[in-house]
Amino acid sequence: MDIQRTVTIVIEPDPDLRQTLTVFREVQAACSPVAFNDGRPLGPIALQKRVYHAVKGRLNRQMTISAIRQVAAAYRSASSNGTPATRPFVFRKARALFLVGKRGRDADFRADGTLSIWTVAGRKRLSYTVPDAFNTRLHQAKEIDSLTVIERDGMLLGRVTVTLAVPDPVGTVPVGIDLNETNALVAVDPDGTTFVASGKAVKVANWRTQKTRSRLQRKLAARKAEHKDTSSVRRVLKRLGRIQRNRTRTFARQTAAALVAWVPSNAVLVFEDLRGVVPPKRGTVRGKALRRRLARWQRREIRSAVEQKAQMCGLRVTEVDPAYTSRICSRCGVRGNRSRHRFACPFCGSMQHADINTAQNIRLRYTVLRDGGPLSTGPEALPGNPGEGKLSALADSR
Ligand SMILES: [Zn+2]
Repeated sequence: MDIQRTVTIVIEPDPDLRQTLTVFREVQAACSPVAFNDGRPLGPIALQKRVYHAVKGRLNRQMTISAIRQVAAAYRSASSNGTPATRPFVFRKARALFLVGKRGRDADFRADGTLSIWTVAGRKRLSYTVPDAFNTRLHQAKEIDSLTVIERDGMLLGRVTVTLAVPDPVGTVPVGIDLNETNALVAVDPDGTTFVASGKAVKVANWRTQKTRSRLQRKLAARKAEHKDTSSVRRVLKRLGRIQRNRTRTFARQTAAALVAWVPSNAVLVFEDLRGVVPPKRGTVRGKALRRRLARWQRREIRSAVEQKAQMCGLRVTEVDPAYTSRICSRCGVRGNRSRHRFACPFCGSMQHADINTAQNIRLRYTVLRDGGPLSTGPEALPGNPGEGKLSALADSR
């Protein structure tokens, strides 16, 4: 199976490449109002027809087309994200897309370790460095598809999209995974062995950062009302947001790496389907609601980090219906009592950590589905209580 990943490289400083990014941005800025089309954004082909002759000649042909397509794509993704553009987008950031290999000849990674790249002053050979963490990935690449050059803190960074060949996902051993706030990730394998990643440190740190952010947001609103300068407050807010995002992302990636190292190589990673979980309304984000929002954000990060890592090593990822996985007993299927982190079953007397019980249920739900429909029982069900318990418990609680 082929997957796509990005690799970051650092390109040597070059005034012509820098100028190319500026021109690319100017071309996009010129297309944007046309693409907006009074709130009915044009598609890529229509936009290209409309603007190509007006903007051509500043970049090479392929890059002019890339610039136009990216503008159309920005409007399209805004619409599909549910926030359609209400006025023309402003393209502020210096960045340019170079197609590589089969897709185009805007840039080329040469065998001698240099980058041959198109600039407004003609083609150039530039040197670049690859951070250690990305080196193997770049070398294993089956194909290099594109290079996006951005300018950040005065540096020219390249994001290289590569195609990697990875093993096809196989998986027979289901591992149930429950994502939570305090125990960020709890996994159970068929032997009942558990893996727990605590999210407490991240939770506390994020909660603190979030409180500071709320305080600053109030300050910002007050300053705005008094028509005072807000730039310093906005700068601090931006930095805090970045710190919090990076903290969560790093934690998610580390947790995902630890999980993937722990599971057997033929595992199926079973998650709960969380798409049905609705976010709290705007303006009600205080206390409990805020904690929930942070937890959900973290869960999404962990989930996608696990999917990324799983893909690289050919593990399967699947999901099951989350209904009542935290309320029913994983041994007999009867609805039990949960008090904080303890789960107690009134029917079979099972006592477990609540999150482990949930992870077991997620795993069982997958085996039940796999072994023939929701009414049959998994091999782990206790004898003498075949399925009825599970079924009636579900019926009662619905
Ligand atoms: Zn029970």
